[in-house]
Amino acid sequence: MAVIGILALQGAFIEHEKMIRSLGADTVEIRNQGDLTHFDGLILPGGESTTQRKLLKEEGLFDPLKKAIEGGLPVLATCAGMILLARHLDNDDNPCFGTLPVTVRRNAYGRQLGSFITTADIKGIGPFRMNFIRAPYITEADPEVEILATVDSRIVAVRYKNQTALAFHPELGNDTRIHEAFLQQAESFGK
Ligand code: GLN
Repeated sequence: MAVIGILALQGAFIEHEKMIRSLGADTVEIRNQGDLTHFDGLILPGGESTTQRKLLKEEGLFDPLKKAIEGGLPVLATCAGMILLARHLDNDDNPCFGTLPVTVRRNAYGRQLGSFITTADIKGIGPFRMNFIRAPYITEADPEVEILATVDSRIVAVRYKNQTALAFHPELGNDTRIHEAFLQQAESFGK
């Protein structure tokens, strides 16, 4: 059975944890270096990326997690998590891990249209109900980045090697297909 590490410094980590557990896998909440035991996949949840980035550095989690991501650990990043992975941010000078070769715009939908729900196709999965909360989107992606979904011609889901990043929140709601696909990836990595 796969064990999934979930960054639990701040934000919507409980919902990911519940969904992963409902699928029969184990989870570890990552808050400090002592939590960096064995896991086969990593979830970077939504929340406030600025706070998450600050706590990652303060807790000494930044370097070990960056190394693990670069080493091929499967990562599922949602919303603020996608901001943490991005190599460039087009309205903020402080990228975090920088392991995903895309440019992300934070709070890209502005204040008025900050939060909305829509259904769009995800490559390999099909139509999916997407919950956007003060969401970012991707304004540029390197050619080797696979685009998994767009909404109104804006990129909202990508995969690059072991990293999957989503602008929306698949952990809210009861469609578990994204988490199931991620667990399969984690299981094969763990073997
Ligand atoms: N707007 C948040 C940020 O910039 C992300 C929003 C979210 O994760 N729901 O960090």
